[in-house]
Amino acid sequence: MSGTHRSVVLEIYPGDITGLAVDAIVNAANERLLGGGGVDGAIHRAAGPELLEECRALNGCTTGQAKATKGYRLPARHVIHTVGPVWRGGDTGEAELLASCYRTSLALARDLAVRSIAFPAISTGVYGYPLMAAAEVAVTTAREELAANAGDLEQVLFCVFGEEAKAAYEAALGE
Ligand code: ADP
Repeated sequence: MSGTHRSVVLEIYPGDITGLAVDAIVNAANERLLGGGGVDGAIHRAAGPELLEECRALNGCTTGQAKATKGYRLPARHVIHTVGPVWRGGDTGEAELLASCYRTSLALARDLAVRSIAFPAISTGVYGYPLMAAAEVAVTTAREELAANAGDLEQVLFCVFGEEAKAAYEAALGE
């Protein structure tokens, strides 16, 4: 099959990412990788204490990069922890760093032979990235990356929390 073009399905999933039985879920983590609030806290609570133990051994992660762990008590087999940029108005490389989160996470997913993956709206909570702009970066970058090399990926879910996020992703996907 290598070299042939398969199309990957990009979809919106409204709800809690921790319940998703996909091969990998992505965590919007912080540079220390030791848990936090928002989706990060929810993932650690659902995965159990072994996740934090594995994260400790990773020695953090720089903004725009990603590192993988097992999913432990989650239905997802892998967690890909990526660190989104803090929004500072848009002139400090935020868009490029956010795009890098999606690229590096998808590259890791490829290395892990992942077929299905779910992303939260990275940086759009405590980190303050405007939803519309963040959804645009997420969708555009995922499409570019998947067109270049999808690996085994068949399904990419954008997990949205709330109506505003859902509308932003619908717009970005052209729905
Ligand atoms: P960041 O620090 O990257 O901004 P947050 O966790 O604060 O990360 O928010 C990222 C996004 O994840 C927000 O849009 C928030 O609404 C959403 N979110 C929070 N909890 C969950 C969850 N359990 N499942 C999916 N998305 C979530």
